[in-house]
Parts: sequence; structure tokens; C-alpha cells
Amino acid sequence: MAVPLLDLTRQYEPIREAILREIDEVVTSQQFILGRKVEAFEAALTEHIGCGYSVGMSSGTDAQLAILMAMDLGPGDAVVTTPYTFFATAGCVHRVGAETAFVDIDPVTLNINPMKLAEYLREQCRPDGDGILRTPKGNRVRAIIPVHLFGLCCDMDAILALACEFGLTVIEDAAQAIGAEYPSEAGTIQAGALGDFAYFSFFPAKNLGAFGDAGLATCCTSEQADALRLMRNHGMEQRYYHHRVGGNFRIDALQAAILSAKLPHVGEWNAGRRANAAKYADAFEAAGLLEFLTLPATPFADRVTEHHIFHQYVLRAQRRDDLLAHLAKHGIGHGVYYPVPLHRQECFAYLGYQEGDLPEAERAAAETVALPIFPELRDSEIAEVVEVISAFYR
Ligand SMILES: *Cc1c(COP(=O)(O)O)cnc(C)c1O
Repeated sequence: MAVPLLDLTRQYEPIREAILREIDEVVTSQQFILGRKVEAFEAALTEHIGCGYSVGMSSGTDAQLAILMAMDLGPGDAVVTTPYTFFATAGCVHRVGAETAFVDIDPVTLNINPMKLAEYLREQCRPDGDGILRTPKGNRVRAIIPVHLFGLCCDMDAILALACEFGLTVIEDAAQAIGAEYPSEAGTIQAGALGDFAYFSFFPAKNLGAFGDAGLATCCTSEQADALRLMRNHGMEQRYYHHRVGGNFRIDALQAAILSAKLPHVGEWNAGRRANAAKYADAFEAAGLLEFLTLPATPFADRVTEHHIFHQYVLRAQRRDDLLAHLAKHGIGHGVYYPVPLHRQECFAYLGYQEGDLPEAERAAAETVALPIFPELRDSEIAEVVEVISAFYR
């Protein structure tokens, strides 16, 4: 029996009516650019996340770009982030002309390691004569981008304390983390409400997916929100007068309407993913596979409900590459997120990182595999995945 990595048709069937109604409303109104549906979606997201302000964008990538542009980040600036993430995280930093500085991950959570981050900021960076923190290349450290990879929040208390100590802006990459909760010292806070800014992606395969590309930026103050709205629309406040250069980063009204219909379900979908993760854990243990596999860590499981939203279910596997071939042969959907850490990408060779510089990211890239986890996955399919993996190690 073949098992898909993701089957979005199963999600669509039960909500079809509600979505078609939303689409019909937009098409009937012929209001496709910004307007009421976009504002309603932004208000719903602000409420859902518990952040200050939300600004709908054309993609997660564009939301990040708009944030960096709103901060006026550019040549002479540097941003610290993880090398083990989707390309856009560092691609956007490059596009505004700033330096990307990579800090290695924690091998357990696969998120940026706050101890390594502290070491980088304290020991490798230096304050100049004016007290401005500079990277070894001489650029001014302006921001940290923690990525809540696969739907598990980073160790934000530690990261926010470092940001405070060094006066840095925190921009959360929450592209994979809609609804994920973090047990902060101040109480339970959702991804997207933890930093100064955050961005979400509604790429169809994300836990909340549009029918095309869409994204959203969040922020804390009305000034930040104004700057984001300005960047979203070519820097244009008064029509055809431009004080600053922005882009066309607007979310489509159609996508905003579709996402509004899907948003009420995201909590139950995330719970479905967590339930599937628990089923995998039981089945792998029962099959005696825990000596070959390292299952995803859930460090906040005893403190918050939405401790992990399992955008991907990623485990470490012995003899990973042979296992990939075995899964392919048996029709088991799988993925590798991500096979090449960003510091080893050809386009970032100019940054000067060598193999072995960020060993945990390199090891994760070589040892991990993602298995089907979508909420509508059937118990028989989970059993099949475990059976096929079990046959490989036996
Ligand atoms: C999906 C994703 C993005 C980019 O979002 P798009 O909507 O595809 O542009 C950025 N960062 C991470 C970690 C992602 O998973």
C-alpha cells in the first residue's frame, strides 16, 4: 500500500462548501486587491496568534522581505540565524544586501542553539568604539531570526534575553509554526507573538495552507505595522507619491478569504498531527526500533498544549540514505528537510563557511527523514509506514 507524504484532497472535502462560499463572495464583489476580506483575515490572525498587529503578504518570503525592508536593513548590517532551515530565511537577508551569520543548531530540538548564539555574540562579535556590536567581517549585528523548525518553538526566553543584552531585533520565522505554543516565563505565548516581528507562510503544504502563495507578517507596534503596510504597497502612502521603495507584497483577497474559512480548523488539524506523532512513537517503540531511530523531541510537552504542531515529523535514522531508497521502493512518501544546510549552499560560498564549521546542522542534514504526518493520515497507513521501516532494520 502506497502512503502519500501529504494528501490535501482529504482536507478539502469536508470544508468544500464553506470555501466555495468565500470564493464566490470575493468573485461576486470583484474586490481582489486588499479590502474587506484582507482586513477581516488580518484581524482574525491577530486574535488567533495574540500578537499586536498582522499584515497580510503575498508569501512567507515576501513577508520576511517586507520586515527587513521596514527595518531598513541593508549593506553594513548582519543578521544571525540558523543554517538548518528553508532557503528563504537566509535568501531574504542576502537580497537586502546584509550579511547572514549562521549559528549551529541544538542536535535535540534541531533549532538554533542559544548557547552557541551566546558564544557567537560574546566571543566572535566585538563592540566597536561606539559600542556597536560588529561581526568578524565588520558588519553591525541588527537582528536574530530564530526559526521554529517543523512547528517546535525555539528556546525563546534565552534568545530574547540575548537580544535584550545586545539590543537586537528578534524576527521569528514562524512559517512552519502557526498555533505552536511556547511556555515563556511570562506565560504561554504563541509563535508569532514572541519577538519584535514574525512571519508566517500559507504555502499550500503548510499547516494552514492557501490555494496558492500567501503569507503574513506580525509586529508589536502600530508604527511597525504602518511601515509593513507601506513596504507591501511600493512604499506608497498617498497614491503615486513614494517616500521609500517597497514592493508588491500584497496578499490576494481570494487567498485571505480562503484562509479565513480554514483558520477555525487549524487547531484541530494541529491536534491531529500531534496524535499521529504519538501513534508513531508507540508503534516504533512496540516494534523495537528505538535503537535505530531518534524520534522528534517535544521539550514543552508537559507545559503547553500546542507544544509541537508537527508541520513535519522528522526523525534521525541510522543508515538514512539506504532507508530513503527502501521507503521509495515501497511507496512510502518521505522527504529530507533539508539535504544541504544553508552555509554549504553554492550561492552562499562567498560567506566563507567550510565543511565542519557547523557540524550539528551538517549531521542533521545527513541523518534525518520526514515521514507522512498530515492530520487525515489513517491508522492503517501509520501501521504500513512502521511495518516498512521495521522490515528495513530487521
Ligand atoms: C515555507 C517557509 C518559508 C517561506 O514561505 P513561502 O510562503 O514559501 O515564501 C520561510 N521559512 C521557512 C522555515 C519555511 O518553511
